[in-house]
Amino acid sequence: MTTQKQDFPILIIGAGIGGLATALALQQAGFAVQIFEQAKEIREFGSGLTLWANAVRVLQELGLDDLVQQLARQPAPTRAGFYTMRGKQLVQLPPQTVEEQCGGPTIAIHRAEFQAALLERLAPGTLVLNRKLIDFEQDAAGVTACFVQGERVRGSLLIGADGIHSQVRQLLFPQSQLRYAGYTAWRGIATDVTPQLMGELWGRGKRFGIVPLSEERIYWFATCNTPENAAERPEGRQKELLDLFKGWHPAASTLINATENSAILRNDIFDLQPLARWSKGRVTLLGDAAHAMTPNMGQGACQALEDALILARTLRHAHSLENALDVYQQKRLARANMVIVNSHRMGLVAQWEHPLACWLRDSLLALTPPQMLLKQFKRVASYTWESSC
Ligand SMILES: Cc1cc2nc3c(=O)[nH]c(=O)nc-3n(C[C@H](O)[C@H](O)[C@H](O)COP(=O)(O)OP(=O)(O)OC[C@H]3O[C@@H](n4cnc5c(N)ncnc54)[C@H](O)[C@@H]3O)c2cc1C
Repeated sequence: MTTQKQDFPILIIGAGIGGLATALALQQAGFAVQIFEQAKEIREFGSGLTLWANAVRVLQELGLDDLVQQLARQPAPTRAGFYTMRGKQLVQLPPQTVEEQCGGPTIAIHRAEFQAALLERLAPGTLVLNRKLIDFEQDAAGVTACFVQGERVRGSLLIGADGIHSQVRQLLFPQSQLRYAGYTAWRGIATDVTPQLMGELWGRGKRFGIVPLSEERIYWFATCNTPENAAERPEGRQKELLDLFKGWHPAASTLINATENSAILRNDIFDLQPLARWSKGRVTLLGDAAHAMTPNMGQGACQALEDALILARTLRHAHSLENALDVYQQKRLARANMVIVNSHRMGLVAQWEHPLACWLRDSLLALTPPQMLLKQFKRVASYTWESSC
């Protein structure tokens, strides 16, 4: 398909990483595209993102080499790997080992800067803000998106890139279900601090992760087993975290203290029970809407980027729209579902609470060669899509 054959633009719902990357990939393939985002502005998110080699390859395909080059030169602290809560190293995982195993660098990026980099590469007028999709109707000739603001927009195809609580998914597959993973995650970016170590500190039912973004900016995340929808403590997130991570390696409290309380994000962690289908007629899903996963493998956005590139290439080479959506689903669904399952399993072990189980886990971790440990990550991150496009 080419732009000339399109009667209407392709409609993308949601301007997250998935929606923006899809718009860019589709425009590069010659399609007319419009993104509709419910928010009134693309807000700054106070968090970072790890992009594994599979996502870096997508960025290179999308012509974002400059961004990758710039970020691949992040400072690497001398100590990298997995640690006990007090900072005793269990496994050493230098970035070079990860790069060798995964066939390319893993980069860390500020979310807002990444979204801005994608947005600035889109054709002017692509993004329409303040449009919340509530429904759609489709027929043989096209699809109509209906927004809460009262507007109706006609498109040739509708892509639901509207995140974990996707309305498009709800309309397509009302029986789909999110499941609570059993823990809450906090995220922040500490400024004016020098990284002492990078990687994850593992305790009982809690973890603390450290990812340098630049010389003086460090992205960190923390998890703790909690009941679903547990109320937040009134004294604020920073104080709550300082209490939760008291007695841990000082890097944890240093980073929490170096982050403004109001900039700390907090989410209960959910994933999506793997779906059997993503598409119906002229409507399909992409990113978290299709395959929301726990963050344990750092692959949610990476998988959304793969979706974006493969969907655009499939559409470019397809004879018909319906056929293209079937092929996209065939190429992507099993792989993304596999990552949901592996990520969920990884989280179960990482969030163990029982002292004996944790001791056993840490002892095994300390005996495992880094290559073995990276096996699951390598399987996902060393993937190349040439064969499937
Ligand atoms: C704690 C944590 C850490 C993570 N770390 C990593 C990591 O290191 N690496 C990684 O690859 N992934 C990571 N992820 C996962 C990653 O954040 C997501 O997979 C990714 O952001 C999904 O992008 P998306 O575009 O599909 O959805 P989103 O980013 O959620 O974007 C969806 C967009 O749709 C809009 N929207 C929603 N409903 C509507 C509607 N009805 N109408 C119009 N617009 C709508 C929303 O406002 C939003 O802008 C992490 C996730 C968490 C929770």
